Amino acid sequence: YEVATLKQANNQSLLKNVKNIIAVSSGKGGVGKSSTAVNLALALAKEGGKVGLLDADIYGPSIPTMLGTKNEQPLSPDNKHMSPIMAHGLATSSIGYLVAQDGAMVWRGPMASKALLQILQDTLWPELDYMVIDMPPGTGDIQLTLAQNIPVTASVIVTTPQDIALVDARKGLTMFKQVNIPTLGVIENMSYHICENCGHHEAIFGEGGARQLAEQYHTQLLGQIPLHRSLRQDLDNGTPTVINQPDSEFTRYYCEIADSV
Ligand code: ADP
Ligand code: MG
Repeated sequence: YEVATLKQANNQSLLKNVKNIIAVSSGKGGVGKSSTAVNLALALAKEGGKVGLLDADIYGPSIPTMLGTKNEQPLSPDNKHMSPIMAHGLATSSIGYLVAQDGAMVWRGPMASKALLQILQDTLWPELDYMVIDMPPGTGDIQLTLAQNIPVTASVIVTTPQDIALVDARKGLTMFKQVNIPTLGVIENMSYHICENCGHHEAIFGEGGARQLAEQYHTQLLGQIPLHRSLRQDLDNGTPTVINQPDSEFTRYYCEIADSV
């Protein structure tokens, strides 16, 4: 019952300002979903789009850290809704803005799903060409609730080339298929390591896995992002690579992915 009501609210009002909703997903945590979501959103904005970023990782919100907004709190013009927090040109919302930094989320699935839909619903999103959603890891309750209640245009799946990540990425692909959300393709993160001293490339998580996965599921390999210390540092500093190294090869990779989205 709740789900149906929320669904109506969604379809009628909530996201009417948003043209395209892209869910950045993965079966597994720690593969670089948030890193990819942030840099992809910034790449879409760099190409002239109006872009929003929703941090849907209710148990481990990392967008506020990655965008350098973790000390900001959203304003509420009417005590009912909250304004998105603007960062590097993105309109953002996250549960991370509403809880103490060490406040661990102990909610069960249905509560977490509800909290998430509420954040989405209560944020005063401006007109957006794209909303990028940084999904929580896994293919459980929250993912399904989101997929069923938000008019998601398409998903992209992030994985590393490691077998253990690919297995989980497969589950993600299957889930989106089951809820009839098209998958634009697979992004291979930590594709190979680039040594920052000598530039040497090393395939530490294996090779070719994401391409095979994409072929198997009749979808595209959208891009391969290397593992590089500066990518991590940029995120830790709150100035993601697309902002901090706008002319780098990394930014070019993210922009190429944005082009195919
Ligand atoms: P997820 O959202 O899937 O859990 P994150 O995006 O938080 O994963 O990435 C996990 C950690 O790895 C983060 O600390 C991030 O800075 C780092 N990281 C992700 N991708 C890269 C990369 N390509 N190169 C270097 N560090 C990366
Ligand atoms: Mg994350």
